[in-house]
Amino acid sequence: MAKRKKEEAAGQACPPEKPVSKEDQQYEAFKRQVEEAKAIQRTLGRIKYKIVVLSGKGGVGKSTVATNLAAALAAQGKKVGILDADITGPDIPKMLGLEGQRAKMREGADTEMLAPVDGPLGIKVMSMSFLLQSSDQAVVWRGPMKMGLIKEFFIHVDWGDLDYLIIDLPPGTSDEPLSIAQYVKDCNGVVIVTTPQEVSLLDISKAVTFTKLLKMPILGLVENMSGFTCPHCGKTSDIFKKGSAEKAAKELGIHFLGAIPIDPQITTTGDSGEPFVSQKKETPSVKAFKAIVDKIGKIIANDLATKPKADEKCDCEECSDC
Ligand code: ADP
Repeated sequence: MAKRKKEEAAGQACPPEKPVSKEDQQYEAFKRQVEEAKAIQRTLGRIKYKIVVLSGKGGVGKSTVATNLAAALAAQGKKVGILDADITGPDIPKMLGLEGQRAKMREGADTEMLAPVDGPLGIKVMSMSFLLQSSDQAVVWRGPMKMGLIKEFFIHVDWGDLDYLIIDLPPGTSDEPLSIAQYVKDCNGVVIVTTPQEVSLLDISKAVTFTKLLKMPILGLVENMSGFTCPHCGKTSDIFKKGSAEKAAKELGIHFLGAIPIDPQITTTGDSGEPFVSQKKETPSVKAFKAIVDKIGKIIANDLATKPKADEKCDCEECSDC
């Protein structure tokens, strides 16, 4: 005993650890949450407008809309960032010609912060793909880990002062939109992307209900791959039924933002890492896209996004709201 006391006094042995009570643990967790909320607010407080891009299913052009929305706003002289929140299938770096880039720690005083990668037109980009060892590495992450990473994208990424942050979510109604809604409390609205086919339209009402449940305002619906623009004569012909998304938007009480035709240039530019909206030629798809961006700008400026009702309830059998 006397020996131990001597050792303790000399700093050689640690005093026996006191058991941590449940209350202490809860208090520590609460303190951590408050600190995180403050850190998120510090980041998001420097961003004027936050727009989320969502789709009911994959392959409808959601990432194409997100990257081109960012590019169109940047071309107007706005300071823009884009967050690729699709943790398991990040596509934004490829669409902006940033494949293979890695995120670096900010040089200088604040070494805790990651710097977003600089994209075309000065767009600041952050994606899971910048944190991987190689671009073809698969990401097998489950719910809580994904939610934790999304939080890090707000706490430890130095976005700086931005006019717009565009957030590209993975398709469907999974964990990521839940975390975004939790962290980005003052989101200015969600853009929902669909195609004219019935299968895609079926998913819209699910996406709309989900968005309303998350209490996020909806900016409106975009119908992508709507008709086909011939690369030779420039004429547009309707391949699938046209106008069904506009009808659906009316029925769901949300804005219809516009329709983008199928245009082979969109695929080519997407694959080569160049936003199609930056093309010099005013093709029908470029014109359509610019009109959509103008409409989004007006809806935000005039606070016209469809707001969720306070007592909005879901009638499905799957979600926790039921
Ligand atoms: P999602 O994000 O919904 O999975 P993407 O934006 O990755 O969809 O688009 C899927 C593919 O379709 C990409 O190769 C993209 O270039 C192409 N694409 C998207 N919209 C159009 C369009 N209007 N015309 C032609 N190709 C398009």
